Amino acid sequence: MQAMRFARPASADRRPLVLEEGEPPVPGGPEVLVEVRACGVCRTDLHVVEGDLPPLRPSVVPGHEIVGRVVRTGEEVRRLSVGDWVGIPWLHRTCGRCEYCLTGRENLCVAKVFTGYSVDGGYAQYAVGDEAYVFPLPPPSDPFRIAPYLCAGVIGYRALKLALPRPGGRIGFFGFGGSAHLALQLAARLGYETVAYSRNPDHLALAAELGAAESVLTSKPRIAAPTPNLDSAVVFAPVGEVVVDALRELKKGGTLSIAAIHLTPLPSIDYDGLLFGERKIVSVEANTRADAREFLELAFRLRLETRVSVRPLREANEALADLKHGRVTGAAVLDCAAT
Ligand SMILES: [Zn+2]
Ligand SMILES: [Zn+2]
Repeated sequence: MQAMRFARPASADRRPLVLEEGEPPVPGGPEVLVEVRACGVCRTDLHVVEGDLPPLRPSVVPGHEIVGRVVRTGEEVRRLSVGDWVGIPWLHRTCGRCEYCLTGRENLCVAKVFTGYSVDGGYAQYAVGDEAYVFPLPPPSDPFRIAPYLCAGVIGYRALKLALPRPGGRIGFFGFGGSAHLALQLAARLGYETVAYSRNPDHLALAAELGAAESVLTSKPRIAAPTPNLDSAVVFAPVGEVVVDALRELKKGGTLSIAAIHLTPLPSIDYDGLLFGERKIVSVEANTRADAREFLELAFRLRLETRVSVRPLREANEALADLKHGRVTGAAVLDCAAT
């Protein structure tokens, strides 16, 4: 099979992923082997490839928004069969024994395993997943549009929940990439008033199309300091300054969630002006399987639209570079078809 693997973290502009030929992995015990049809390109992949997240093994195949069909099952697999469509997400496996696993917070597990980081992922023609952690999917008419649901969608959903929006409240989305374009749609469909903030006019045009009540171009200097008018805010941009920008818009009692696995240093925050008034900041770490099941149910029922740009597997380096430089509107997805 073909896979895009890297050994040493480097800037995506230096094309660190190398096309390799090899045998498909053999699923053992509770694992299934999946023939990958589509794999989304998530910002976390960029953090893995560029070394913002420290390497966990000598080399790895990134990718954790995997949609494909089961082609082989391990001897302990009971629930899934050859031919089933499934999604393999970022949360590859948890320990099931730590204090977090035992209290319904498996996303915080101290020994969790990640797809495309601790184990090889979906920038490949085949990938393995653990039956207990993969999600059965209806046969998708367009697998490319479903792939971003697996991480961008689910993380956006968890970030939205943690931002504690009040019914019908006004929610700001800062940074409008793959995750935000699904979260904003979901929030708009659930009756919240949504505001998109971005430096990129194309991203704001998409936000308006997807139901944003208001769009704010952040590259222009604001004439006056904003009057706080958000009940909740979700920051998707992995940039510390954006958290401060978002706090300036947040009303008293509001909650800001940060949906980034890596953030550039947070500037000092003026406690009296920006945090006092019972404003709260919370980070988002991965998601539970329950989050994913809830989100997938909503996403299929509400037919959340995914705007994708699809590239063949061998162009994974270009897809990552495009993501890095803000050249993707919506989500980038790889076509990993084995034939
Ligand atoms: Zn655990
Ligand atoms: Zn992801």
